[in-house]
Amino acid sequence: MGVLDLAEATLTEAELKTVASDLASLVRQSSRAVAFTGAGISTESGIPDFRSPGGLWTQNKPIPFQAFVASREARAEAWRRKFTMDDSYRGAKPARGHLALAAMIAAGRLHGIITQNIDNLHQEAGLSADHIVEIHGNGTYATCLTCAERYELGWVRQRFEATATAPDCEACGGPVKSATISFGQAMPERQMRRALAWSTDCDLFLAIGSSLVVHPAAGLPVAAKESGARLVILNREPTPLDDLADRVIRADIGTVLEALVKDLGDRPEG
Ligand SMILES: [Zn+2]
Repeated sequence: MGVLDLAEATLTEAELKTVASDLASLVRQSSRAVAFTGAGISTESGIPDFRSPGGLWTQNKPIPFQAFVASREARAEAWRRKFTMDDSYRGAKPARGHLALAAMIAAGRLHGIITQNIDNLHQEAGLSADHIVEIHGNGTYATCLTCAERYELGWVRQRFEATATAPDCEACGGPVKSATISFGQAMPERQMRRALAWSTDCDLFLAIGSSLVVHPAAGLPVAAKESGARLVILNREPTPLDDLADRVIRADIGTVLEALVKDLGDRPEG
């Protein structure tokens, strides 16, 4: 394992070229590469890592799933917090990391992206549903917990602001919740199965911008490694899986991925 810790230093052009060319050669040697992304890829888009100390979660922590289901008051409070959070990063656009991975997918170098993020920025960078698995759901729309009917956030917000209560499903009366996986909520079975299959079938697993501490998500790189894949960890901070990785790169994510795509000769869109 090689740890390249550049988080505290400014990357020189030469260092960046070396890192990018090493990563590019791993990508070229692989026939089925998968990326796994966490909050760190979206910080450049202005979306904070909510779990960080002093982050927005201090005041606007999501309501646990059981409380949401159990009480109408908790549902109203959950929506109030959700809209407060959304207002604080409205208009976030895909960053260099999202665009670089989208370019790699378009060029056929990546099979897909498994993401812990709920911000929809991989899709906004041009990814279709075939190429993404969202293991923590998606925060840009809502669904009925009973019948799975989809609702847009604007629909919820209009009713919430008019009545100060959380709206129920028009089709079945069930609770309507943002389409994310809350604390205490079961992981989405189909997506987890797909994520695990991608992880065990790949020959290169790129873990990008994830602290790799939230389970079961953090089990995916382990599953990939145990199935014989090479593991690359690109994150500003150390992770508990660093010892397992073939490469550990602690550096700015957008800078490294942009340089990787340039080395590969792929063209980022946008
Ligand atoms: Zn319903």
